[in-house]
Amino acid sequence: MKGNIGVTTENIFPVIKKFLYSDHDIFIREIVSNAVDATQKLRTIAQKGELKEDAGDLTVHVSIDPKAKTLTVSDRGIGMTAEEIDKYINQIAFSSAGDFLDKYKEDANAIIGHFGLGFYSAFMVSDKVEILTRSWQEGSKAVRWTCDGSPEYTIEDAERADRGTDIIMHISDDCKEFLEESRIQSLLTKYCHFLPVSVAFGKKKEWKDGKQVETAEDNIINDTAPLWTKKPSDLKDEDYKKFYRELYPMSDEPLFWIHLNVDFPFNLTGVLYFPKVKKSIELQKNKIQLYCNQVFVTDSVEGIVPDFLTLLHGVIDSPDIPLNVSRSYLQSDSNVKKISTYITKKVSDRLQSIFKNDRKEFEQKCDDIKIFIHYGMLTETDYYDKAKNYALLKDTEGKYFTYDEYQTLIKDSQTDKDGTLIYLYAQDRDAQYAYIEAAQQKGYNVLMMDGELDAAMLGLLEEKNEKTRFVRVDSDTIDRIIRKDDAADQTAQAGILTDIFSTQLPKMEKTEFHVETQAMGEQGAPIVITQSEYMRRMKDMARLQQGMAFYGDMPDMMNLVINTDHPLIKTISQQGEEATAEALKPVDAEIKGLSARRDAINQSNKDKKWDEIPQESKDELSKTEKDIEAQQARRTEIIATYAKDNKVVHQLVDLALLQNGLLRGEALTNFVRRSIELIK
Ligand code: ADP
Repeated sequence: MKGNIGVTTENIFPVIKKFLYSDHDIFIREIVSNAVDATQKLRTIAQKGELKEDAGDLTVHVSIDPKAKTLTVSDRGIGMTAEEIDKYINQIAFSSAGDFLDKYKEDANAIIGHFGLGFYSAFMVSDKVEILTRSWQEGSKAVRWTCDGSPEYTIEDAERADRGTDIIMHISDDCKEFLEESRIQSLLTKYCHFLPVSVAFGKKKEWKDGKQVETAEDNIINDTAPLWTKKPSDLKDEDYKKFYRELYPMSDEPLFWIHLNVDFPFNLTGVLYFPKVKKSIELQKNKIQLYCNQVFVTDSVEGIVPDFLTLLHGVIDSPDIPLNVSRSYLQSDSNVKKISTYITKKVSDRLQSIFKNDRKEFEQKCDDIKIFIHYGMLTETDYYDKAKNYALLKDTEGKYFTYDEYQTLIKDSQTDKDGTLIYLYAQDRDAQYAYIEAAQQKGYNVLMMDGELDAAMLGLLEEKNEKTRFVRVDSDTIDRIIRKDDAADQTAQAGILTDIFSTQLPKMEKTEFHVETQAMGEQGAPIVITQSEYMRRMKDMARLQQGMAFYGDMPDMMNLVINTDHPLIKTISQQGEEATAEALKPVDAEIKGLSARRDAINQSNKDKKWDEIPQESKDELSKTEKDIEAQQARRTEIIATYAKDNKVVHQLVDLALLQNGLLRGEALTNFVRRSIELIK
């Protein structure tokens, strides 16, 4: 018998071949899962006692015949009668196919789902497809349906000893890869790994006399009862770890896992793992596998779970996620939103309970899991509110605190004169050691913020908490970071110190220094190098984000703060002033005179508008200003000449640079040489 496949619009085959080309390996999932469905239906029938014969071995077999160029999927499921073939295979209901295809031409899943074209996906890889089938119903005759990819099919009586269905795919020449054993093996592993009915692909092999030989045993490619389908109470830690190894053979042991199990208001099961990651670079999204009744659907779960949870590993299985639709549809689906909220809550509850019940364990794993927690807090407002109870801060001594605990700890000592609570932090314990120490000597606590997301996190915490500021310990001198009174604001009497030091700094590429003086106590370091919090954050951000190159290209602006209380600095100042006094006297007198003149000119023009001032007066003013500049340059020159040979100045500058890892190249060599001279 011959007939035409019932398609109301165009022929579906060009559609399948053309539009679905990119995803065509999913045909195997469609054909094998049809076989599994048919087998499960048979099981149900058998359970009800309606099956007259013994159900027997229900394994689904996948086989390749390279000579005949066929790939066959055989099952011993319910089979089909000729009428059923006509109903389920021949009549494909197309509604507004044109529109739909236009919209989703890139998305094979959507097309297949929309039209119920699972079976027809076989034509993506075949010139001809045969169905050889016999229904489970008593007295059924076997039938063979054949179609070569045109809307015409034939259906005829056939021989089939047993109940069930063979789907025989005559693989087309441009899809020869699907006749390769390794290709099919890997596709089966990807799509059919956890199907609920055993699927065999050839025979198990073993090594014999240096050769691989087939054994009599079926090569079963799937695990029919994967861990997530079992009851959590029946499972031990080892089971979860073992399953994890099965999913991700190359990964370290997971930190935690969460067994998901809901049946209302939607169905969802699964296991999510917190992977151990050494660096966030290793963090990979798309590790969660999504299943629908144990059929693999995708490993890109964006839109289904919140973005930050895509960093987790594991499996989610839900028949309620509309899988055969486009991504944009998924994101607006209300079921999907509920699922996403549910998963976030479960993950949060689990972390909260570990924190509550075993804070020690939580702290031990804190450094590893904080990347997930932080990423979640940064990207999901709802999650921030949950996680703020168990997200931890770590100080430079390795102690952990909740946000509340930490606030209580530092509230009294680290609130500045304006009532702002200052959180001190370091990003590199070694590089910022001296600053951490200086802060600790003041009785302050310093946080360790060396995680990849910490920079973003402190921004978020500033945003969420009023009157809160995070300042890196080396961004200013400690008294100015936490200003207790106005004293720290007053710069100390600089005298000639600023000139002495600024003229002697080594030239560095992309680094500029601003020299200033401050009274930091006799015990304080003689010189402290700082970098403003604001500039540093901008530069850090520039490194991470595009469109901020402006900040990235700017030189590092450092402050070199000279401690006027330090005995060494006092000596330098005194000696310097004595040594240069003679030479500076005439220059200073000159500057004084010139300044007086400038002031007089300005005074006489005080009430005039710019264009009312006579030109001579303007000229004189600008000449006087130039003269002052010239004298000041002379003054600096005199000081520079004196300072050039002051070993203590150079030694102090170099030591400060060295402490900040800024002394390199020639400057470093000079320092070493000078140091040797000094101890000789
Ligand atoms: P869907 O599976 O989404 O219904 P398909 O195009 O994959 O769409 O299959 C259409 C129908 O053909 C199935 O619903 C089923 O009734 C029948 N069918 C397909 N494969 C088999 C099989 N191996 N055994 C029995 N019936 C099958």
